[in-house]
Amino acid sequence: MDTKYIFVTGGVVSSLGKGIISSSLACLLKARGLRVTIQKFDPYINIDPGTLNPYEHGECYVTEDGHEADLDLGHYERFTNVRTSRANNVTTGRVYKSVIDKERRGDYLGKTVQIVPHITDEIKRRIKYLGNTGNYDFVITEIGGTVGDIESLPFLEAVRQLRWELGQHAVCVHLTYVPYIAAAKELKTKPTQHSVKALQELGIQPDILVLRAEKEIPADMRRKIALFCNVAPDSVVQSNDVNSIYKVPLMMHAQHVDEIVLRKTGLPVEGEPHMDPWMNFIHKLDNASETVTIGLVGKYVELQDAYKSINEALFQCATYADHKLRLVYVHSEKLTEANVDERLRDMDGVIVAPGFGQRGIEGKFVALKWCREHDVPTFGICLGMQCMVIEFARNVLGLEDANSVEMNLHTPHNVIDLMEEQKNISEMGGTMRLGAYDCHLREGSRAAEAYGTLDIRERHRHRFEFNNDYRDRFEAAGMQCVGENPATRLVEVVEIPEKRWYIGTQYHPEYSSTVLAPSPIFASFIKAAIAYRDEKADK
Ligand code: GLN
Repeated sequence: MDTKYIFVTGGVVSSLGKGIISSSLACLLKARGLRVTIQKFDPYINIDPGTLNPYEHGECYVTEDGHEADLDLGHYERFTNVRTSRANNVTTGRVYKSVIDKERRGDYLGKTVQIVPHITDEIKRRIKYLGNTGNYDFVITEIGGTVGDIESLPFLEAVRQLRWELGQHAVCVHLTYVPYIAAAKELKTKPTQHSVKALQELGIQPDILVLRAEKEIPADMRRKIALFCNVAPDSVVQSNDVNSIYKVPLMMHAQHVDEIVLRKTGLPVEGEPHMDPWMNFIHKLDNASETVTIGLVGKYVELQDAYKSINEALFQCATYADHKLRLVYVHSEKLTEANVDERLRDMDGVIVAPGFGQRGIEGKFVALKWCREHDVPTFGICLGMQCMVIEFARNVLGLEDANSVEMNLHTPHNVIDLMEEQKNISEMGGTMRLGAYDCHLREGSRAAEAYGTLDIRERHRHRFEFNNDYRDRFEAAGMQCVGENPATRLVEVVEIPEKRWYIGTQYHPEYSSTVLAPSPIFASFIKAAIAYRDEKADK
């Protein structure tokens, strides 16, 4: 069958959850046996979000093929269990760069290079790239930003043209906001009408409107919106706040969004999507009565999205273990010897977060020393693992001022060192060790037990590594290097076997954790935290 294209745009305000709506639609279509992928087109000039501070766009997600991507790609994978790649995330910067490169090569044969058609053609080429592989029945394209922004105009023009070229093979979904004015006790449809009008002025007629609202939107109000916006009444659906993003696919299905898409693209609507495994997860989510409390030690704790994939991996694994997750953010900059006991005492498990640079690092050492000495289940991820190594070096091996050369170039004990391949790199963007690499686990280690296999592949994003010159000393003192890259011997996993659960991974297992395939190492950590909580309760 011809590949079908779904375009998802947003209006009125940002943060309405276009990524979740796109993911939910993909989840439903996949559950109908269709091959689906989702891609994000971002209107900013950065080539990728890798150089962006988490305060800008939250977490930087990493694909298996080593692309530093928008965090929405994380949702796409979590909802569909389909891996994304570099091709699933395109920015204005990448579009312009390839057009300018072509111009310099002389590919345009003396023509004036313009936004229309050259930039828009490049956008169209990239929108259709995954569809042209023949691997997908549906390609969902989410356009970042809000309709009306200057930045997104070339993307919307490309959508307009494609819509025309693709005819029935394309569907436009527009997400808007219906605010509730408390003083008037009324929901207001005007912003939606204006936003659709703005889209229509650009030549795009939405086929489906998804209205985000905090209150139930009455049927007559939806009919009114349908009338004013030229959309079929049954194609005006609402997306109310729910207690879990993982319920959004069910909410969309209840309003037949998947069927509407099939109908509009000329496909047969047969039977129901196979959502049993998903429903099993939702059932557990709704019926969990006990709580597991995890402390997340990091420096971006005031920022919900900075550790998005870690939050989701913890939540998925707690849910499968029939527990509610209580996630407590612990600000590493504010953590001291004096307050660590009070801050971490109630935790059933502690995660030390990934990160870069000196800020907040000392607090991570304080947390880790406390966790190690109190034998609390502890999980260090990337920088968190490196901090485990440094803390152990300082306090167990007695290597004073041991450090990572990232924090102190002149440390007498560079237990974490710059990777050899990084030594001649001066450019910042896309130059870390990125993406999935093999890791071989030691038989009998807790990590191997967690994974149930000795050979794994996980994703990375780092420049520094465990210094193998110190390996023997660590192992003799009780910290084992139980996972390594078979080709380079780069240490991927450390653990202290005599502790309840004390494991650090150089890689980021959170990136590959999905609803239908949660991360085994996160699952093992949550299990250990629950066991520890029960043990404390028995005392
Ligand atoms: N800053 C560390 C490094 O580059 C860790 C990176 C991370 O936590 N993602 O190696």
